[in-house]
Amino acid sequence: MKRVGVLALQGDVPEHWKAVEDVLPGSQVQLVRSVADLRSVDALFLPGGESTTIGRLLDSTGIGPELHRRLGEGFPVLATCAGLILLARSLERSPSGRDPGTLGFLNIRVRRNDYGRQKESFEADVRVDGLAGGPFPGIFIRAPRILGVGPGVTPFAYRGSEVVGVRSGAVWGLTFHPELSGDPRIHRAFLEAVWGQRQAKPQKTRSATSDRTTPTTTAQR
Ligand code: GLN
Repeated sequence: MKRVGVLALQGDVPEHWKAVEDVLPGSQVQLVRSVADLRSVDALFLPGGESTTIGRLLDSTGIGPELHRRLGEGFPVLATCAGLILLARSLERSPSGRDPGTLGFLNIRVRRNDYGRQKESFEADVRVDGLAGGPFPGIFIRAPRILGVGPGVTPFAYRGSEVVGVRSGAVWGLTFHPELSGDPRIHRAFLEAVWGQRQAKPQKTRSATSDRTTPTTTAQR
């Protein structure tokens, strides 16, 4: 039985856990806090949070180098916001100069916090290629902006004409937070794409907007 991990070093870990549990039985979901945990899962969700903090913890736990190794072997990862920053090949320097080292796997150029501060966070419809059921409610919290997409990377999610989601093989990166919208379609689509249809739970009937959560309870990013 395949298992999916949620990186649990910092950030909106419970929200991702809950979103994955909408799609998979809880017994197939595991928190990842060590290299051994990482080795025991077949896909990983990288949550949003504070990329400098998560980046430091990736180094100190040894998870970073192991994740880098597995990414090279086609390991499926869905990364949101800070997670996307940590996968980017190229990061614009912040004015503060405090930026994380990145794993460099996704051939994109990113600028952190490019939509403003925490209070300038917003919600906007996102068009996701191949996703049935209409626009996805995108929640953007101190989000990074994707400034450029290099060879090997395919944009697949857009806010207007702006790219807000990309993929490269089995690695998906989003600047918004599907784990906060109460809409499991992206988590489901990711697991179906990388593992195939049969692993996911049958779709629950729920309206796309009825049980949205707001980002107000999540940790500071
Ligand atoms: N602003 C955060 C950073 O640069 C990312 C925000 C988020 O994950 N929501 O690390």
